[in-house]
Amino acid sequence: MAPEEKQKNCTPATPMMIEEEAALRNGSRGLPPGPWAEAAGPRPRTTEQHIAVHKRLVLGFAVSILALLAVTMIAVLLSVRFEECGATAAGSPRTGGNGSQSGAAQQPPGEGQRPDRPEEEEGAQVGEAAEVKQEEEEEEEEWQRRREPPPWARHRLPLHLRPLHYNLMLSAFMENFTFSGEVNVQLEVRNATRYIVLHAHRMHIEVVRVAEDKLAGGVQVARSFLYPQTQVFVVVLNRSLEVERSYNLKIIYNGFIENELLGFFRSSYVLYGERRFLGVTQFSPTHARKAFPCFDEPIYKATFKISIKHQATYLSLSNMPVETSVFEEDGWVTDHFSQTPLMSTYYLAWAVCNFTYRETVTKSGVVVRLYARPDAIRRGSGDYALNITRRLIEFYEDYFKVPYSLPKLDLLAVPKHPYAAMENWGLSVFVEQRILLDPNISSISYLLDVTMVIVHELCHQWFGDLVTPVWWEDVWLKEGFAHYFEFIGTDYLYPGWNMEKQRFLTDVLHEVMLLDGLTSSHPVSQEVQQATDIDRVFDWIAYKKGAALIRMLANFMGHSVFQKGLQDYLTIHKYGNAARNDLWNTLSKALKRVGKSVNIQEVMDQWTLQMGYPVITILGNETTDNDIVISQEHFVYDSDTKPKNPTPGDSSYLWQIPLTIAVGNASHISSEAIIWVSNKSEQHRIPALEEASWLLGNINQTGYFRVNYDTRNWRLLINQLTMNHEVISVSNRAGLIDDAFSLARAGYLPQNIPLEIIRYLSEEKDFLPWHAASRALYPLDKLLDRSESYNIFNEYILRQVASMYLKLGWPTNNLNKSLVQASYQHEELRREVIMLACSFGNKHCHQQAATLISDWISSNRNRIPLNVRDIVYCTGVSLMDEDVWEFIWMKFHSTTTVSEKKILLEALTCSDDRNLLNRLLNLSLNSEVVLDQDAVDVIIHVARNPHGRDLAWKFFREKWKILNARYGEALFMNSKLISGVTEFLNTEEELRELKNFIKSYEEGAAASFSRAVETVEANVRWQRLYKEELFQWLRKSVTH
Ligand SMILES: [Zn+2]
Repeated sequence: MAPEEKQKNCTPATPMMIEEEAALRNGSRGLPPGPWAEAAGPRPRTTEQHIAVHKRLVLGFAVSILALLAVTMIAVLLSVRFEECGATAAGSPRTGGNGSQSGAAQQPPGEGQRPDRPEEEEGAQVGEAAEVKQEEEEEEEEWQRRREPPPWARHRLPLHLRPLHYNLMLSAFMENFTFSGEVNVQLEVRNATRYIVLHAHRMHIEVVRVAEDKLAGGVQVARSFLYPQTQVFVVVLNRSLEVERSYNLKIIYNGFIENELLGFFRSSYVLYGERRFLGVTQFSPTHARKAFPCFDEPIYKATFKISIKHQATYLSLSNMPVETSVFEEDGWVTDHFSQTPLMSTYYLAWAVCNFTYRETVTKSGVVVRLYARPDAIRRGSGDYALNITRRLIEFYEDYFKVPYSLPKLDLLAVPKHPYAAMENWGLSVFVEQRILLDPNISSISYLLDVTMVIVHELCHQWFGDLVTPVWWEDVWLKEGFAHYFEFIGTDYLYPGWNMEKQRFLTDVLHEVMLLDGLTSSHPVSQEVQQATDIDRVFDWIAYKKGAALIRMLANFMGHSVFQKGLQDYLTIHKYGNAARNDLWNTLSKALKRVGKSVNIQEVMDQWTLQMGYPVITILGNETTDNDIVISQEHFVYDSDTKPKNPTPGDSSYLWQIPLTIAVGNASHISSEAIIWVSNKSEQHRIPALEEASWLLGNINQTGYFRVNYDTRNWRLLINQLTMNHEVISVSNRAGLIDDAFSLARAGYLPQNIPLEIIRYLSEEKDFLPWHAASRALYPLDKLLDRSESYNIFNEYILRQVASMYLKLGWPTNNLNKSLVQASYQHEELRREVIMLACSFGNKHCHQQAATLISDWISSNRNRIPLNVRDIVYCTGVSLMDEDVWEFIWMKFHSTTTVSEKKILLEALTCSDDRNLLNRLLNLSLNSEVVLDQDAVDVIIHVARNPHGRDLAWKFFREKWKILNARYGEALFMNSKLISGVTEFLNTEEELRELKNFIKSYEEGAAASFSRAVETVEANVRWQRLYKEELFQWLRKSVTH
């Protein structure tokens, strides 16, 4: 899966942001359908219509009851006889053990029975006959006597059975958003058992039958029931299933095509003024069980044969191509799809829609189609994605030396989706904004976002779909690889952009080290059991730390050996599952073949099973010239906090670190040497270390750690940057900046060192070091922005930015859109420098912004260059009078472009006027004015404004009950809100307020609150210990 939203680099995002935003919609399950869900156009599916449909169905049902009276009588007689035979009736009235075959899967609505709402069903279960309850209790007592929980009460499925093949027949009723299904699962018995336990959630089960080897007679079902606590369906049999035999489990069921974005859900769009609906699936990680009863854990790979019946006005799609379509006279059609290879349930998929497509074919004959709403296809908005997909399949086939496994790949662009995209095998689903692109009006950064999401999902066709992690604790194996390959694949498409060598650092490495430097972090491999916890493993640690560790591994192995290792890994485990040790073993073997011996498992276990990362300190030894002392310790922002959960058996937090070191002088840098550091402190000999030469560790910042030096070495490095910065690589220049700011923030380094380093920026023409500096300055700025002496800091930063700002100037709206390296890097650099200049108060920058806004107001034509609009809006609102705020407010209401609406709303939070900020905060809770998901952004952005921080903090506490009711179920949304409002609090008083607040309202978001407390404690500690030191140095420096 790819996260939903990439953050613009204007305001460095808090580490959790992308994933939280990703899960916002995912988590909105508890909310009423949000206004954003179906905002545009009429809403034909009103409650009244629903009731009308219901009435019709009830009527139809009544008639069919009369007609079937005789049959029912016979069935009742049979069932009485059945009970007399000693078998109890099935647990739920609707889950009859031997119910008559209703053929529900084949019946269109009106003839068939409309499914009951799942809630009603669960309600009915609660009110179930005491008799069944008693039986269950007896059974549970029996298990208690055995001192183990019953098989259905465990978080993982019992290992007795294995699904080999599923035959799934679905009927989708788009007029009333229901579906019915019949699934036949061929089961292999590993251990004899009386219980069939498989996942099923929020569905109504009508019939369940178990037959031996299809031909032999049925196995009698004693009872069956849904067990919502663990989301399973339990079939209790009268006798045990025997080992090494295979059985057929048949279940007929029905459910809703939900209006929330999980399982089999619906979505809509407006075409020619008419609202159209589509049904699509999102099963990852644990939602296939909402669409069909199945063994919904990734290890249970099976083959699937799917058929979908729908009205002929729609088309249906699934992982495999359609084999045959059978048209019926009543206007219905059944598509029978080819059988899939062995696969897990979470990347199975289907869709029912009336989209159109364009297609292309790869060299190896894979048919690639892009399906989207017809108007988008006609405009050619999918052509870019289609074109790069073809090229990327060819790239991956060549890189992995494993052909793409299916005959086709469909890319489906849907209006709503919980993530940016989902990598379903052969049918990957993308939210429209992440795949459709009009080259004439899209900025380069938009194009980059689209590209990276597609590269990510295509990587998953191999890493995830073909070879699947055994269990969710290693979700980072697939997400880390896909995230890492976003950069490798984009480099293939745009060789000049140097994504893996450069942008990876700021966007992945620096970003995640911020989060992973807290003791409230967690290891990249995380134990999870409960379905409700599984969503949480898809966080930035899994994506970004996973990617950073993989990059470190690739670099110390050497890229070609690493690539060979991956080829072996995929070949060995294709169509199967693999755990991290399988990968380590294959990679170790690949290294051995080239004569190197590294126990990769031993090395990587320390990085994946321990949270956090080390800081290496390199000290020159004063007695012997060529000797240096290298030591390591766990880097934490607040050294007063001790890790709360040290790894069992090893609380020492040591890592085996592949440290690369180079020696340099004024004009030259030596080639790097790799030193494995595994002890707390080690002595090493560095040849050719001369008086005036400096040491540089972690060459090109390929390692996942920070490096610190003695003051003498820092001085030498600063001199080098000032005299001739190009001796040191672009990535190391960015790395030095990020390390220095982080080390100073955590108290490892004097506060002046990072500020001295950035002095060389006036000569820096590369984007990356500027970007690293800008991101590092942002949190420092927030620590200082309410101090009396703030101006002195402000002035210092302005001095560093001034000359480059003058040199680069402002962009015009007639950008040359050619996608050459120079233009991309240059535009990004210019944007970064303008942002720094305007936010720190460069007069020319302010004037320019004010002029552009005035021009817009007077001419009513927005001529502000696209790339800097957010900066100009925000600067205008903060500098100019209330009329400008009102103008932006009006534009916010009138614009229909999603991206424009977002930056207009954010600009409103930039005001210095506390009345306006309060007004905005209060309006943000009105769903008619501000969309639910945007309200959180409003509150967070007001908190980032020094004039509004206390207002937002107060508002957050006062409205917590409302906010928690609104976002409580959307766990990620809550944690985004909590960290966003609290991360820049930095006084003792605020810390006290936070702790008191948590005492009264902790429920639900404990992890976010403990992260918030740790962050604020570190802020307060920094203020207490280092703020004055920083200002003293600044005073001296600015007055000289
Ligand atoms: Zn992914």
